[in-house]
Amino acid sequence: MIELKGIPASGGIAIGPAHLWTKEEFVVARQEISESQIAAQIQLFEEALIKTRHEILDLQKKIAEGMGQNVAEIFDAHLLVLEDRMLIEEVIFQLKKEKLTAAYVFQNVLKKYIQVFLNIEDEYLKERVSDINDVSRRVLRNLLGKSAKRLEDFKEKVILVANDLSPSDTAAMHKKNVLAFITSIGGKTSHTAIMAKSMEIPAVVGLETATLKIATGDILIIDGTTGVIIVNPDEVTLEKYRKESRAFKDTTQRYVSLKDEPAITTDKRRVRVAANIELPDEIPSIIEHGAEGIGLYRTEFFYMNRTDIPSEEEHYQAYKFVAEAVKPQSVIIRTLDIGGDKFLSHLEVPHEMSPFLGWRAIRFCLARPDMFKSQLRAILRASVHGNLKLMYPMISGIEELRQANTLLEESKNELLREGRPFDESIKVGAMIEVPSAAMTADILAKEVDFFSIGTNDLIQYSIAVDRSNEKVAYLYEPAHPGVLRLIKNIIDTGHKSNLSVGMCGEMAGDPIFTLILLGMGLDEFSMPSLMIPEIKHIIRSVSMPEAVNISQEALSFSTTKDVEGFAVRKLKELSVSRP
Ligand code: PEP
Ligand code: MG
Repeated sequence: MIELKGIPASGGIAIGPAHLWTKEEFVVARQEISESQIAAQIQLFEEALIKTRHEILDLQKKIAEGMGQNVAEIFDAHLLVLEDRMLIEEVIFQLKKEKLTAAYVFQNVLKKYIQVFLNIEDEYLKERVSDINDVSRRVLRNLLGKSAKRLEDFKEKVILVANDLSPSDTAAMHKKNVLAFITSIGGKTSHTAIMAKSMEIPAVVGLETATLKIATGDILIIDGTTGVIIVNPDEVTLEKYRKESRAFKDTTQRYVSLKDEPAITTDKRRVRVAANIELPDEIPSIIEHGAEGIGLYRTEFFYMNRTDIPSEEEHYQAYKFVAEAVKPQSVIIRTLDIGGDKFLSHLEVPHEMSPFLGWRAIRFCLARPDMFKSQLRAILRASVHGNLKLMYPMISGIEELRQANTLLEESKNELLREGRPFDESIKVGAMIEVPSAAMTADILAKEVDFFSIGTNDLIQYSIAVDRSNEKVAYLYEPAHPGVLRLIKNIIDTGHKSNLSVGMCGEMAGDPIFTLILLGMGLDEFSMPSLMIPEIKHIIRSVSMPEAVNISQEALSFSTTKDVEGFAVRKLKELSVSRP
């Protein structure tokens, strides 16, 4: 039995067999062939090259249509590898000489080919290695007649252990078969962790040695609340955690029984407690947990795990479904926020050195107005089916906001000309998650209807700490006095302009901070639905003057540790009246 400790990412306890998951990697065994099989192997190789070429051209075409020619050109490098005569001739030469299968020879020739690139003192050429790897995986897959490895393939319930899981891998997990997951990299608010909460499965991230210390078939206990992992536990430990698991479920159940209470303080200040969703399938769960609408619909997940870009009609149908399911409550649809740690494999956006500071969210959308407008038009069209609001991610200043609003106006005018109905007074908001937006909130406030504070990013950008990097996770602190001041400033500035100010970052669903945020005047708390009953209960346990005092005292501390200690103490004092 060994005990490991990672970063707790999604609460709860799971017990089950480990399954180590790696991205597809083909290891082809050496296999000799006879003289008479040589021609057939060469033909197989040539067919695999042609098939791969068609796949890439197809992908390139779809991307050119959806995102423009220059993005599609990334694949030219892949096509060049496929057409490299030297590489092809070397494979055929070796195949004839050594009398080995095409797959085996191709794999070996490729290794040498990559080594040549790695030895060249040229950063650009070195970076081409990932293109070569990509193409070679495709060719090998075609040579071996395999289909792409997907996460849904699990046949039995497992605890997934991976070096990394992309948000799209996580979105593809079949809830029934993945009891929990552990990753070697990642932070508390990486999108993979956020997905785990939405799926209501325990998760521990940033456990650096996970894939080295755990083997497929090991029995694991994973405690997503503390970050503790126990590998091959003894019977006493198993029994202890089974009990804790039952207690966790009981507490969750007790809170759920309070779900229909309104979020109102003892002196009748009413706030809204809404849910964050990534996929429309989460709607039954948000209703079950008593969400007052959706404060953040992360639409980028709609673009994931598919090979093309969704059409306006597909967007429209998805948003209509959500609007109808949630009405009369409102739904804040956030426009596409890809980049950062959310990549779309089929878009193949160029690799960036600092993706969180790069071509992400609104920046990407403003550079692809056609793609952006198809989403805006769909949101507008769906707005007649319920109570929809629209929100832009990652606004850094007024110019960006104006550009986005101009495209929104254009979309409205097009729909008017086409005679398609939409809610002409649809509310438009900006996420405040970039420090420059927080500092210019007074300017932004004049051109939007509401703010929603995205603390996941606001924390990473203001403390300069990558939210998905386990090495600096210790610095990622919502209780940092600088973060608290920024939040207070955004709320006050929004209120001065009579704007409603919500929060949809993970901090809004962390019980430790509820009293402080309430006291600062936050109007809406939006969170993973599992947290809703507990947060409502905390809000119902205090009066506004008490909460205001707590927030003022919290703002007076100089260190994160003091703020945190104070917040925990205040929450504990309330716990006498908790269910
Ligand atoms: C945030 O940054 O707080 C937020 C809610 O958006 P996301 O987590 O999707 O970046
Ligand atoms: Mg964000």
